[in-house]
Amino acid sequence: MTKVLVVGAGLAGCEAALALAKNGIEVDLIEMKPQKFTPAHKNPCFAELVCSNSLKSVHKETASGLLKEELKLLGSIVMEAAESTKIPAGDALAVNREQFSQYVTDRIKENQLIRVIQMELTELPARETPCIIATGPLTSAKLCREIEKSFGEENLSFFDAAAPIVTGESLDKSKVFFASRYNKGGADYLNCPMNKEEYEKFYDALINAETVQLPSFEQEELKTFSGCMPIEIMAKKGKDTLRFGPLKPVGITNPVTNAKAYAVVQLRQENKMCSLFNLVGFQTNLKWGEQKRVFSLIPGLCDAEFVRYGVMHRNTFINSPKLLDGYFRCKMNHRRFFAGQITGVEGYLESAVSGLVAGLNLARTIKNLKLVPLPQTTMIGALAAYISDGSTPNFQPMNSNMGILPPLETKIRDKRVKHEKLAERAISALTAWHASLEW
Ligand SMILES: Cc1cc2nc3c(=O)[nH]c(=O)nc-3n(C[C@H](O)[C@H](O)[C@H](O)COP(=O)(O)OP(=O)(O)OC[C@H]3O[C@@H](n4cnc5c(N)ncnc54)[C@H](O)[C@@H]3O)c2cc1C
Repeated sequence: MTKVLVVGAGLAGCEAALALAKNGIEVDLIEMKPQKFTPAHKNPCFAELVCSNSLKSVHKETASGLLKEELKLLGSIVMEAAESTKIPAGDALAVNREQFSQYVTDRIKENQLIRVIQMELTELPARETPCIIATGPLTSAKLCREIEKSFGEENLSFFDAAAPIVTGESLDKSKVFFASRYNKGGADYLNCPMNKEEYEKFYDALINAETVQLPSFEQEELKTFSGCMPIEIMAKKGKDTLRFGPLKPVGITNPVTNAKAYAVVQLRQENKMCSLFNLVGFQTNLKWGEQKRVFSLIPGLCDAEFVRYGVMHRNTFINSPKLLDGYFRCKMNHRRFFAGQITGVEGYLESAVSGLVAGLNLARTIKNLKLVPLPQTTMIGALAAYISDGSTPNFQPMNSNMGILPPLETKIRDKRVKHEKLAERAISALTAWHASLEW
């Protein structure tokens, strides 16, 4: 029987290794700990939670609650470990992090089909070796160089510089309008025009807002990253700097009123469905609550639903829309998969679920079985579709959120009811998908 390689025993790698073993496939699991640690990892055990010990909400009408249900349905080890090591945390699922990692490590080590190899992988596996690369947001430097050599420097990023994303349906359409600068190209941007008073109020709030304190290793590394500047830092350079930069009003006229604005915030379509928009140029280190408070001052955004807040942090990820298909598989090599944060999914559970699905897909590949696309109405299917969507401009990582699911056939105004219906639809689609997999 063919042996496969899984690289990285984090959340994604452990899910992948166990999904393969469950289907009778022998796995070599390569992990560089404890010989070498990333700047964030400290525990020699596998599936380490490097920061928060919370896996977020348990309510299935929330995105992370739905993802938990989907993981359980697919037989996730991360959810099994979380259930056995949980600690009281209200509506959230929080765990004792040491016990959690120990639980997963024990399941890996006792599995007869998994051999753990403790070493840093410094070269990509040979082309014909079936493998899953799941080395995470802090993939070691040597392996990063190999990935760059193989895929091109432009296809590996080392930082998230992500602007916030809002849902289109939560915008006040009476205040915003579609237009492109100087009417060049299609009217691809949604514009939020500000008068002088609105701009000054927004500006004052922005320069006085609280920012996130980054870990010291990230502060050091970010100093060397001159790719783009947080909007709040740019604003502090001078009152008009933003009006000559991302909030430049020139060439933008309201097509209905013909009015010109003092400053304009532009929103760019984020997904094919046109349900999400990002705030162009708004990469930021403001705390999440502050982002909601300050950015809601932008005309049209007063009731905006933020599905992802802006972040600027150390994160290694490949250009998945170009390199991967919806199976987490390399378009150019169907025996090589990627999983976890390195694919551009963002978060503990998102990483875990991508590992599980990549593991199932590689197992089917080894057994010469047809791969079955995930329904896009599921959270994992929507994430897979997002990271492999070749039409996404300026690809940035994405966490689970209800905004990436296709809309329901009938419009429901009540947000809670709508999310419940989306979750029900997702669970029944994933149940049917899982049942349809013949082994
Ligand atoms: C500082 C930081 C804080 C974060 N905080 C949160 C949070 O609070 N909540 C949240 O939901 N998400 C958080 N994330 C994002 C993300 O969800 C986690 O990083 C998650 O652990 C990613 O899972 P993964 O399996 O992709 O990678 P990891 O869990 O990082 O696993 C990758 C494994 O690969 C190993 N490895 C790396 N390179 C090599 C190599 N060359 N050879 C062999 N082994 C290698 C590493 O040692 C590691 O064990 C955070 C990320 C970072 C960097």
